[in-house]
Amino acid sequence: MSSMPKWIKEVNGELWLTEDEKENLKLSYRAKKVIHSEQSPYQHVMILDTYDFGPTLVLDGVVQTTSMDGFIYNEMITHIPLLTHPDPKNVLIIGGGDCGAAREVTKYPNVERIDMVEIDQLVVKLCKKHLQAVSGNLSDPRVNFIFNDGTQFVKNHENTYDVIIVDSSDPIGPAEQLFSLAFYQDIYRALKPDGLMVCQSQSPIFHMPVLKQTYERIRSLFPITKVYTAVVPTYPGGLWSFTLGSKKHEPIELDKKWDKEAKYVNEGILASCFNLPQFMVKELFQD
Ligand code: SAM
Repeated sequence: MSSMPKWIKEVNGELWLTEDEKENLKLSYRAKKVIHSEQSPYQHVMILDTYDFGPTLVLDGVVQTTSMDGFIYNEMITHIPLLTHPDPKNVLIIGGGDCGAAREVTKYPNVERIDMVEIDQLVVKLCKKHLQAVSGNLSDPRVNFIFNDGTQFVKNHENTYDVIIVDSSDPIGPAEQLFSLAFYQDIYRALKPDGLMVCQSQSPIFHMPVLKQTYERIRSLFPITKVYTAVVPTYPGGLWSFTLGSKKHEPIELDKKWDKEAKYVNEGILASCFNLPQFMVKELFQD
């Protein structure tokens, strides 16, 4: 455990995490205490107990997931692809160190194997211990934790997976390559002939160039490419995007297949999440 990380400031006896969103935009969270703070070989990893969001995972000063709203992102990045594939058996999660995505995938009894390739073992260790509202203290034997760089891992696993979920952090540092065309090409090869992938593709409000580039790259490889959204309070802009690339299966009538326990996803969300606001339609499909 190191001393107070530079993202935390004490102001009039109060602890504040300040996240730099953009040059002229900062977002601050008042914290009760720093539960754990440590530099790993890849990034600074912190679990912060915040007043409004409870225990929160912060990597290099950026909020990744919180006990209060982590379920929204984790349900959306998993259930949409898993319902789109008619019979997912082998699932790969790349990143996802908070274990929230893996936890959702375990809700599918027909899934036989869940490989989770996370570059940073420290993230998993701390989230299992301090962030059980998200990780659920995952102990399902189908989950195989592999501590490796996801970009290297996919190169060596051709024709292996039904569904690949890229649950990455922002496209800087170790996650930068997780947004590259070369990586998506390797993912395409790692999928079975009817496989599909999904990735988080950032904020449509603040990161439209990243979303557009991600959409174009995935569309250049997959015959079916769709974008969907959810609202995540702790991600910049609130509105968040996910891009799905599929070799064969279309995400149609997902609402008719819903039979799980969840806090965000329900039939209504499944029926409507591909409906995009007009500015996204214009940027992605009309320009
Ligand atoms: N839900 C969160 C969000 O969108 O902000 C992020 C989920 S998760 C915490 C992201 C994980 O990706 C981190 O734990 C990070 O260590 C991992 N990661 C980053 N680059 C990676 C890589 N090249 N290979 C595997 N995992 C990687």
